[in-house]
Amino acid sequence: MSGLRFQLDIYIDEDPTGTLVAGVKIPTALATKIPTIRQAIRDLKAYATKINAGKPDEEMTVRATYHIDYHNEVPPKPCGANQDI
Ligand SMILES: [Zn+2]
Repeated sequence: MSGLRFQLDIYIDEDPTGTLVAGVKIPTALATKIPTIRQAIRDLKAYATKINAGKPDEEMTVRATYHIDYHNEVPPKPCGANQDI
């Protein structure tokens, strides 16, 4: 059976003049859209199922998370814990 698979990996740079969202300031123009984006992702997740559920080649295709990323920090710090969207 076929299906529609979404795969996203999006990094937004911190914006010191932006708006605080989940512990990091991001551009305000985006920050105001986060509640709508978050709801849209939750709507997708509500219909999601695992590919090959229960089989050895099962794939985790019902996950949507975010975390604070410190890869540009000097010195680098480990990423924050993943949080469910
Ligand atoms: Zn990270």
